[in-house]
Amino acid sequence: MLKENYKKVRAAIDEACEKCGRKKEEVLLIAVSKTKPLSDIEELITIGVNDFGENKVQELSKKYAEVSKPVNFHLIGHLQTNKVKQVIGKTCLIHSVDSFHLAEKIEVEAAKLDTTVDVLIEVNVAEEDTKFGLKLEEVTALISDIANKCPHVKIKGLMTIAPFVDDPEENRPVFRKLRQLSLDIKSKNIDNVSMEVLSMGMTNDYIVAVEEGATIVRVGTAIFGERNYNI
Ligand SMILES: *Cc1c(COP(=O)(O)O)cnc(C)c1O
Repeated sequence: MLKENYKKVRAAIDEACEKCGRKKEEVLLIAVSKTKPLSDIEELITIGVNDFGENKVQELSKKYAEVSKPVNFHLIGHLQTNKVKQVIGKTCLIHSVDSFHLAEKIEVEAAKLDTTVDVLIEVNVAEEDTKFGLKLEEVTALISDIANKCPHVKIKGLMTIAPFVDDPEENRPVFRKLRQLSLDIKSKNIDNVSMEVLSMGMTNDYIVAVEEGATIVRVGTAIFGERNYNI
């Protein structure tokens, strides 16, 4: 079932790419396995799935330690500074940097290990109170600051969690704004910053996100089914 679900989502992405003249290789599908058992991850690994999304450091660390072969774990949830140390080396990309304070902490820990850490800047495009992330107008200044002062932190692009809406079309302007911002920042050619990655789109709106330029979509429910947070 999981395998079929994954293939369906992948096929829908590929079709959307074709329709809007993008290469399907441009879009990475992350299977968001948060709250789901390791056996679900193992099942998807058998069909070659290599990228999984987790939103909690503890859960990511446990799955990282137990998985039968190395795969990419993306940290997509909010990261507290006191958990930074635990997650470095286990995640291929932190999608949720939203303050200088957090970047600084990553810098210190990465420098200690003589490594670099790839990150995205999380933007709260719709300015929802319930969500983490920067306002659009705060992003460029934060990126310049991190680029100047945190040589071990490599900014690769932007991420957003769009509002939960009934009609995914409602999120099209959100995705469009994030893409425009990434183009604006790219045109500044800031040293140590690349804007290749746009992480946007979830179960309800990933097709619209692909049409608007997403290079990573993060899909949980459409692959693994509903999540149960009470177990
Ligand atoms: C849970 C989560 C997802 C996946 O959401 P679905 O609607 O189940 O596809 C994507 N991104 C983030 C940041 C999440 O926390």
